[in-house]
Amino acid sequence: MGCGHTCVPRRSASAAAFRSAGDGGSRLEGCWNSDILNFRRQIANALRGGRAVARQAAHRPCLLGHSGEERGAWEAWEHMSDSADLVIVGGGIVGCSAAYFAAREGLRVVLVDKGEFGFEQSSRNWGWVTAQVKHRHMLPLSLLSLEIWEGLEEALGESVDWARAGHMHLFDKAEELVQAEEEAAPEGIQRRFYDCDEVKRLLPGIAGNWPGAVHVLESGQADPRLATKAIARGAVTSGATLLSGCAAEAIDIEGGMVRAVVTERGTIPTPKVICATGAWSHRFLRPLGLSVPNTALRLTVTRTEPADSISRTLFSAGVADGTMLAVRQDGHGRFILATVGAYTYDVTHNSFADLRAFWRLGWRNRGYGSFGIGRLLPPAWRDVRNVEPKPRQAMAKRNLRNLIELFPTLEGLGIESVWGGNCDMTPDQTPVIDALDTPKGLIIATGLSGHGFALGPGAGKVVSELAAGKTPSVDVTPLRHARFAAGEAHPLDAWP
Ligand SMILES: Cc1cc2nc3c(=O)[nH]c(=O)nc-3n(C[C@H](O)[C@H](O)[C@H](O)COP(=O)(O)OP(=O)(O)OC[C@H]3O[C@@H](n4cnc5c(N)ncnc54)[C@H](O)[C@@H]3O)c2cc1C
Repeated sequence: MGCGHTCVPRRSASAAAFRSAGDGGSRLEGCWNSDILNFRRQIANALRGGRAVARQAAHRPCLLGHSGEERGAWEAWEHMSDSADLVIVGGGIVGCSAAYFAAREGLRVVLVDKGEFGFEQSSRNWGWVTAQVKHRHMLPLSLLSLEIWEGLEEALGESVDWARAGHMHLFDKAEELVQAEEEAAPEGIQRRFYDCDEVKRLLPGIAGNWPGAVHVLESGQADPRLATKAIARGAVTSGATLLSGCAAEAIDIEGGMVRAVVTERGTIPTPKVICATGAWSHRFLRPLGLSVPNTALRLTVTRTEPADSISRTLFSAGVADGTMLAVRQDGHGRFILATVGAYTYDVTHNSFADLRAFWRLGWRNRGYGSFGIGRLLPPAWRDVRNVEPKPRQAMAKRNLRNLIELFPTLEGLGIESVWGGNCDMTPDQTPVIDALDTPKGLIIATGLSGHGFALGPGAGKVVSELAAGKTPSVDVTPLRHARFAAGEAHPLDAWP
């Protein structure tokens, strides 16, 4: 397996390699080149592994491009030395944030990703950084994350298109507004209630007569295509080593303790590992005898061409076809649109396990979902390097139509891009963040259940603190892994 020698890298070499990878100029070109180089493998995979792999080849251009990162990974590996204090598996926003903070704690950190950093959920989401999360026990993590988001651009020295203008939900029934007004605001969250005139003032040009809206002031937004890459670059600058195109295949355990991470390139001895593998966590941890119930729902996102600025406040509103539209306008005037709650569940080799763990959540959301076919056999890690989930084009068009119905002056606006993303989810829609007793040295940070862009920086900080043997900034006991086996999963309606 691999080159056989393992190590912590010469930092300057890996930093240079990563920086060249982050060069946006050649993104698309890199993507095509890489696709051509991988053409034979993709065809073989498509034949062997089913439709999901075929999708990988079929939906170009990819969001971020490959830009030489794989070559960077090989170069960095050549410069590795003996061991790492901490290996992080998975370079989404959680893993990259963990690498950033752990390196700043003084740990020798290696972060590996099977594909590119931030290529999966972390670059494909809507970019909502909402303060008010699904469950009360996620609130401390949310507030910690918001604090980090607020100072992120300054800390990293680059823009992530951060704007903090809150998020607003428009009510189409007066009684819903009254009910929301009666509910107490969660501690640390400020809400304002508006009447129709105020809604029209805040969202100039909106059609219809809205009974009112609630505005959560703390929420913000950022560009997912920028944020995770920027944090990854910050991790490199802080001393971490990042290896893309380097799938972790196993964790070596001896005497109940983590000894090493086995990757497709070689083995990295380490006493600590953070598993931040997003939607792949169940698959990655199962060989250790750990069951982390974590499924994936395929979502569709639409981005329009730039338009005149309406608002940087995120908002959601019920629309004429009975769905709810989520709207974010970015710093360039483009709208990022999605239908709230609409998902496709792809039946895979994991579906039997999902059925047991997720039937309650699935039944509750049965009106929003449709079914697809995913991989029926578990693929090899290297065969799922950069997965491009297939978006639902009809939904993308419907989202744009609904936006124009809300804002008739946008008539004629076109779609710039449409993409899919596999959103990972636990049965109680609450993350698993935990330093396990057995095996000692394994820290899990996964299952951020549709909140991970908002919570990712805080989750990364907390697990870096756990890895450094410190008391975490917020109490993550309610997010412990054992809650599922103990029958103590959180009730689905815990939050008002
Ligand atoms: C369409 C969509 C919209 C969303 N909208 C929002 C939103 O508006 N706000 C919000 O807060 N959240 C949102 N989310 C959720 C959010 O994007 C995720 O919760 C968050 O990005 C999860 O980050 P992560 O780092 O845990 O996982 P990911 O970003 O999925 O990263 C996991 C990484 O692990 C790597 N990996 C997996 N297995 C291995 C292995 N064996 N070896 C090496 N690497 C491995 C993968 O390649 C991947 O890069 C949305 C998600 C989707 C899909």
